[in-house]
Amino acid sequence: MNFLKGTKIYSILTGSCPVCHEESMYKESNPYKLSQTLKMHERCSHCNTKYKIEPSFFYGAMYVSYPVGIAFAVAAFVISNLFFKLNLVTTFIIIVGTMIVFLPVIMRISRNIWINFFKHYKKEKKLS
Ligand SMILES: [Zn+2]
Repeated sequence: MNFLKGTKIYSILTGSCPVCHEESMYKESNPYKLSQTLKMHERCSHCNTKYKIEPSFFYGAMYVSYPVGIAFAVAAFVISNLFFKLNLVTTFIIIVGTMIVFLPVIMRISRNIWINFFKHYKKEKKLS
């Protein structure tokens, strides 16, 4: 994963600070601790970036979660219907199951993509 450092992909996949990529934005690394899924630090302790740029900033992530959810659904469809040749009803059930099982991941990825629209990677700046 480290070879991706400095790219938005790295921040999006790891949930790391979008500016310095040095630490996670989330308090809990496991998204499946459901009470903790969306708990985030106020600021990056490394570069002091404020994650919640403005009040209810992350509501915008809902717009992102739609295409992200579709991406997961398409992946589930391709794997079960085209790859394993399951019928459409089974495929549909698998798609719904996939959406539910991956919901915490989808929510986090959506937030990561959303914040990466607004914050950009900066190579190590020395805090003076
Ligand atoms: Zn940072």
